[in-house]
Amino acid sequence: MADLETLRQRIRACAECALHAGRENAVPGEGDPQAALMFIGEGPGFNEDRQGRPFVGPAGQFLDELLRSIGLEREDVFITNMVKCRPPNNRDPFPGEISACAHYLDDQIAAIRPKVIVPLGRHALARWFPRDSISKVRARPRVFDGVTIFPLYHPAAALHNGALRAVIEADFAKLGELLRQPPPPPGDGAPWALAADEGSQQTSMF
Ligand code: SF4
Repeated sequence: MADLETLRQRIRACAECALHAGRENAVPGEGDPQAALMFIGEGPGFNEDRQGRPFVGPAGQFLDELLRSIGLEREDVFITNMVKCRPPNNRDPFPGEISACAHYLDDQIAAIRPKVIVPLGRHALARWFPRDSISKVRARPRVFDGVTIFPLYHPAAALHNGALRAVIEADFAKLGELLRQPPPPPGDGAPWALAADEGSQQTSMF
């Protein structure tokens, strides 16, 4: 299995789909290589393409605020996207581009082995639950292959629709609650296994 640094180098040099032609930088993702919590967005935008880093524009600043609201910094988690190269004019990635890039995401998940994955928006949600609507299943944890999947609106949604800001903040608070859940007894089928840090609002997984 490839480690994260090997994957980063492969992604930076990748030409497996047409998106490579228009990129300035591929954006592999960044964060704690052993993060318990992983965020997966849609694809890089203008600022991300320029810097080669995920979520560094206005949506990224909102994501940083949201992380801080539950006691985390971006260094505590791992952040990446479904496609690692910017779609032209920030259009939605095509299904063929998502499927071409999917093996990188699969390998990143296998290397990091997060306990909770947060798909941000409908494209990321579709990797696990393609028939579901993000508006219906957001902030509802479900287990998939032993990992808790906790879908949320993409932070950029709040930039286009200000009314969603409070919704996203409330959903993030639920994520914080999930992370503070005490571990369930072994074998009871509960969806998460994140130990609470006694006497602290911070979680023990960090
Ligand atoms: S989007 Fe993914 S598959 Fe396409 S060129 Fe970039 S890294 Fe390769």
